[in-house]
Amino acid sequence: MSKLFVVATPIGNLEDISQRALRILREVDLIVAEDTRVTKKILFHFQIEKPLISYHHHSSQKEVEKVLNLLKEGKDIALVTDAGTPGISDPGGKLLEEVLKTPELEVEIVPIPGPNAAVAALSISGFPTDRFLFLGFSPHKKGRKTFFQKIADSEHTVVFYESPHRIIKTLKEMSEHEELKNRQLVVARELTKKFETIYRGTASEILSKAGEELSKGELTIAVNTTTR
Ligand code: SAM
Repeated sequence: MSKLFVVATPIGNLEDISQRALRILREVDLIVAEDTRVTKKILFHFQIEKPLISYHHHSSQKEVEKVLNLLKEGKDIALVTDAGTPGISDPGGKLLEEVLKTPELEVEIVPIPGPNAAVAALSISGFPTDRFLFLGFSPHKKGRKTFFQKIADSEHTVVFYESPHRIIKTLKEMSEHEELKNRQLVVARELTKKFETIYRGTASEILSKAGEELSKGELTIAVNTTTR
């Protein structure tokens, strides 16, 4: 039976890769990666040479079938994405769906856990995290009103991903939202990287503290249910 290892990779700092992840990457027959250029850098750093094939949001059915056929042939495959845990707001989950809906395929699916931006942000938030609501990325255009209302209505701490192009817009909208303007937020920028910065406060406090600096780098936002 072939094995499909779902391998978490760093969200920035290469020291965060686990010993087990490195061993699996060394042992598998090949690696399926979201962006082979990104994964090549990690492999080069750890002196791992392995055939790579790409799987991303725009992969064709033919490319999916290529992976399925390799599994049928009994190959062991590691699935990695550009950062963090595959399947969490990235194309990893889609490939797993394809594998699971191919009944004749006998594959053991093995998680190799590791970094995840949402969990890292929650871990330093100081907000209640016994339960939380993860909302993925905020929508580009349509659905933003509903998105913010979902945050406002949540009984639990909310965490979501934000793009540097939309962070200012999002914080402005939150600062104008009656039920969100006084909420405590944590905006985690560039976690585990050189310019890691954690901003705490309401949306308007963070906007005036950080301003345009926010638009540089990767961002995760956590929202407390209560105000200060
Ligand atoms: N699968 C990944 C994970 O486990 O965290 C998330 C993939 S999603 C496509 C990428 C988004 O995660 C980024 O746009 C950003 O919102 C967030 N993210 C990734 N790395 C981050 C970092 N170092 N600091 C803060 N947020 C990060």
